[in-house]
Amino acid sequence: MNPGARVLVTGATGQDGSYLLERLLERDASVTAVTRPGDQLTAGLPAQVRPRTAALDDAEALRRVVHDASPEYIFHLGAVSSVAASWERPAETMAVNTVSTAALLESMASTEGARLVLASSSEIFGSAADSPQTEATAIRPVTPYGVSKAAAHQLVSLWRGRGSFASTAILYNHESPRRPETFVTRKITAGAARIARGLQDHLTLGALDARRDWGWAPDYVDALLAIADAEEPDDFIVASGRSHTVAEFAEAALHAAGVAATDGLIVSDPRFVRPADVAEMVGDASRIRSRLGWSPTVDFDGLVQRMVAHDLALIDQADPPR
Ligand code: NAP
Repeated sequence: MNPGARVLVTGATGQDGSYLLERLLERDASVTAVTRPGDQLTAGLPAQVRPRTAALDDAEALRRVVHDASPEYIFHLGAVSSVAASWERPAETMAVNTVSTAALLESMASTEGARLVLASSSEIFGSAADSPQTEATAIRPVTPYGVSKAAAHQLVSLWRGRGSFASTAILYNHESPRRPETFVTRKITAGAARIARGLQDHLTLGALDARRDWGWAPDYVDALLAIADAEEPDDFIVASGRSHTVAEFAEAALHAAGVAATDGLIVSDPRFVRPADVAEMVGDASRIRSRLGWSPTVDFDGLVQRMVAHDLALIDQADPPR
């Protein structure tokens, strides 16, 4: 990416979007961020970033933004990003995650040579028959979120087949202190920090045996940038290649917070178990490693430690230990 490159980012106020803006500004990109109409958070964007409001389910508004910004790169990260929310709001999930992708692809016709990278998801594979999953694993989602991302993913493939520079990053779970507590990892690290400071008794979670392939969000944003600058557009799995259970995540977080694991500290409550949840996800990132030289810099223990350290610091800043 050349300095001054015109870049359009959707989902700029989210976890990945915030890291991506930092990386783009380091590269002196000229960034336009699509934000939700009426979103007060636009005030929180870095001053160098141009905000443009458009609802992601409003194809006409998105087309106008693309026309005006005339981007060389489009990073499409905006989405209803939680599986739980997609069960509660399936129609909105389809409209936001899928219609937006169709509108952006359609708009690329007016921006000669533009490159698009979609934040696709491991959830497109659903209960995959293969383990680890590769770019060739069958797409058969089992959640509304997975269906919306699968449709968006396949739209990108179609447009790539018609000559557009359109790629997908098939992202496995990636975490950071910027995750809200509605996601299990941050719920665990914030809870572990509160237990360490005597503010909470135990962690109440859903399925403890669900296995996920967890990575460090800034590493995954670096993968998005590498995919955008690849010689050829393609689908790329972005994953650590190692999976851990939710119970292992919780144990690692308690350990990082200096709490001895005792019986009853980690509790599974059936009310938090999601319908049709996938049991195990683990990705094979060989393609992006070999073609684009990407590899993660932070491992599982490193990411848990960083998140717990952040959550302990938040408590200690609010109420410094005496
Ligand atoms: P996130 O923190 O939830 O951010 C989602 C972004 O989308 C936010 O900026 C949000 O804006 C925006 N958005 C949602 N609905 C919108 C609407 N109707 N109109 C305009 N903007 C809207 O997600 P993330 O963790 O950064 O993930 C980035 C992308 O990667 C998402 O597409 C996600 O599905 C995908 N992904 C993430 C993971 C992961 O583990 N993080 C794994 C696989 C795939 P507001 O701030 O206004 O809500």
